[in-house]
Amino acid sequence: MEKLLRVSLVKKLSNKLNGISACFSDIIFPIKCINCGKEGEFICKKCFSLLPKNSFQVCPVCEKTILSNGDVCNHCRQRVSSPINRLFVVSDYKDPLLSKSIHYLKYNFVADLAKPLGTLMIQTMLRLGSSPTPDVIIPIPLHNRRLRWRGFNQSALLANVIAKDLLPGMEIEVLEDVIARKSSTKPQMKIKDYGARQKNIQGCFQIDPTANKKVTAKRILLVDDICTTGSTINECAKELRKLNPKSISAVVLARQS
Ligand SMILES: [Zn+2]
Ligand SMILES: [Zn+2]
Repeated sequence: MEKLLRVSLVKKLSNKLNGISACFSDIIFPIKCINCGKEGEFICKKCFSLLPKNSFQVCPVCEKTILSNGDVCNHCRQRVSSPINRLFVVSDYKDPLLSKSIHYLKYNFVADLAKPLGTLMIQTMLRLGSSPTPDVIIPIPLHNRRLRWRGFNQSALLANVIAKDLLPGMEIEVLEDVIARKSSTKPQMKIKDYGARQKNIQGCFQIDPTANKKVTAKRILLVDDICTTGSTINECAKELRKLNPKSISAVVLARQS
C-alpha cells in the first residue's frame, strides 16, 4: 500500500515537472505554424484549409480506373484477388504542404500534428462516403528498433485520432498488438524499383494467431502515413486475411509515385 502511494506520488511529481517544462519550452520555443509561422498551433486554421484533399480516388490495384470511393474496380476484381477492398488516399506527396506536415510529424517528432492530419484523413473518408464504418482500426506497425528511435509510431497516432473522431460519441477500437513487424526492412521510400520494394517487405509482418477473436468477421481499417507502390499495406493485409476479417480498407495521407 505504502509502495503504491509512493509510486503514485512520484508519478504525480514527474507529471507536474513535465507540465512545467512544457510551459517553459512554450515560452522559449513558442508553437508556430509550420507553414506561415503564426503562433499558437503547429498548423493554423488557414493553412489547414490549404492542405489538399483528393475529390476522387483510383482503383488500388490498377491505379488507373477513377472511382469515387477508392474501391477495387470491377475489371480488377474479376482478374485478381486484392488483399484490400479499398484504399483512401488524402492526396499526393508532391504537394509541398502535405509532405512538409508528414515530414514534421515523422522526423521533427511533432506528434501534435497527428491531430490535424488524422482529421484530414477523416474528412477524406467521409467525403467519399459509401464505405461502411470500420469495427477495428489497425495502424501499420513499425519495427521495434525504429519505434525506439522515434519514440512513437506515427501511424498509431493517426489511427487514434481517427478512432476517436470518425464517429461522434463512439470510439472505435485500435488494435496495436495484432500484427508486428518481424524484420527491420529498409524504408520503402529509399527503394525505387517496384520488384525490389515487394521483395523488401515480403514476409516481414507476423500476426498474433491468438488474436482471431478481435479480427475475425470484422471490418478492418488499416492506417499508414505514406503509400508508395502499396506493397506494405498489401503485405500487412495479406497476413491479416489469415484471420478471416469481413473486409479490409486502408487510408493513407499521401501517395508517393
Ligand atoms: Zn499557418
Ligand atoms: Zn482496377
